[in-house]
Amino acid sequence: MPSSTEPLAISAISPRDMVASGLCIGCGACVSQSAGRGHMRLDRYGQLKPAGDARWLRTRSAALAQTCPFSPAAANEDALAAERFAGTGRDDRLGHFAGAYVGHVSEPGFRDEGSSGGLTTWVAAQLLRRGLVDAVAHVAPGQGGDGPYFAYRISRSEAQLRAGAKSRYHPIELSGVIDEIRRVPGRYAIVGIPCFIKAVHLLRRQERVLAERIVHTLGLFCGHMKSARFVESFAWQLGTRIEEVVALDYRLKNPDRPANWYTAHLALKDGTTRSRDWWHLADGDWGAGFFMNSACNSCDDVMAETADIAFGDAWVEPYSSDGRGTNVVVVRSPLIHAMIETAIAEGRLALTPVDADFVAGTQAAGLRQRREGLAWRLTWPRRGIRPIKRVAPSRALGLRRKLIYLIRHQISAWSHRMFWLARATRQPQLYIGWARSALAIYQGFAYSRGRIGVLIERLGRPLGLHGRDG
Ligand SMILES: Cc1cc2nc3c(=O)[nH]c(=O)nc-3n(C[C@H](O)[C@H](O)[C@H](O)COP(=O)(O)OP(=O)(O)OC[C@H]3O[C@@H](n4cnc5c(N)ncnc54)[C@H](O)[C@@H]3O)c2cc1C
Repeated sequence: MPSSTEPLAISAISPRDMVASGLCIGCGACVSQSAGRGHMRLDRYGQLKPAGDARWLRTRSAALAQTCPFSPAAANEDALAAERFAGTGRDDRLGHFAGAYVGHVSEPGFRDEGSSGGLTTWVAAQLLRRGLVDAVAHVAPGQGGDGPYFAYRISRSEAQLRAGAKSRYHPIELSGVIDEIRRVPGRYAIVGIPCFIKAVHLLRRQERVLAERIVHTLGLFCGHMKSARFVESFAWQLGTRIEEVVALDYRLKNPDRPANWYTAHLALKDGTTRSRDWWHLADGDWGAGFFMNSACNSCDDVMAETADIAFGDAWVEPYSSDGRGTNVVVVRSPLIHAMIETAIAEGRLALTPVDADFVAGTQAAGLRQRREGLAWRLTWPRRGIRPIKRVAPSRALGLRRKLIYLIRHQISAWSHRMFWLARATRQPQLYIGWARSALAIYQGFAYSRGRIGVLIERLGRPLGLHGRDG
């Protein structure tokens, strides 16, 4: 096998190449193929990265080039989806789809327990109930103590599955559950964000046992992946330390408040709790990109285009004001489509069919970042492996839009470094002060908010600074 001291051939890559190129999302697909030589570990920025045997980390292989979701040599989302959903319609923003809906679960419990309308857990439960799968791999709270707050686990009962409902904006990885699926025969469903589901399909293409056993994939729409420092920062801003936090809920549900007013909720060792709305936290504006994984800068899949079905939040009125939570759903598998249609007819799901424009409208900011924003980022010089995307490089963008994408990019990169520095020097204010200034700049450009916003509106016309919105 060639080593990483030789010139880079894209047909063969190493885990280290992907990390050094800022393209490792931390999914663990490489570790799942390492035969025990690698493991996933949090790096100094609180992001999961491959670690372990040094030779394995730098060994370039064609297998990794074909299974790492950000590898330029791997099959892209269009190719994977075309293999799986031939015969369904296609939209450039949604990918293939047999149907799309907005709504929630009516069957008691699911909506209250879920982050949004509870449909992800309901569909997974339905697959279990109908004997279409024996188990579901999804992300659940960790065991506490020194372990991670959240981890992938395999649930074999509905009760176990339901205990893992809710969105976790936290680093998690697949290697353990992939190993378990190889070890334990059965039919599995996997829940994951778009790049993780892509990784699963790339692995399925390489390994017959995984292709036979992973029979359904449930995707979550995705804005970006956060680092573990996101919740550490919440802890600081809520007057505590991460060491005191025993459990956390990124989105405490409150039916009396709008769904898009996210509330972070921390349970502490001493039995008390702390909570605050994301909007009052220095890094709680999702669009500003705090703690975003650098690989997300090279993503072009918002709606988990390779998954049998994908779920998001209906971020448009009147749904975003409904604190009980509302899903948008893109269905691709005919079997799951039929299951959903039956449940609607039986009154177990309250779903209304919608068109592609409606779904795309709920993810407008995410699509801008992964279409026009990505097109521009692809023109930037970069070191290491260059990603190959379905979006063509383009500089055709107004000045203000460019500045918004640039500020977001800088906030993402510098939030990792500034938090590292504040942590190393035990001075939370170093990070929090920086984050508040960075947020003011971002919100000035994106929403014309604050003094910076007033200035930009004044200068807007002469400098061509039009085109706001995150
Ligand atoms: C990192 C991330 C970014 C997201 N970005 C967007 C976005 O930009 N726009 C949007 O509309 N929606 C986004 N979502 C999806 C959204 O937060 C909800 O998860 C989705 O609407 C499903 O809600 P639900 O009520 O149907 O799910 P629930 O019934 O609450 O079930 C959620 C299921 O997902 C599993 N799960 C939770 N976190 C993860 C994870 N990190 N990886 C894999 N599985 C997980 C749980 O174990 C559970 O099985 C994102 C989710 C994540 C994890």
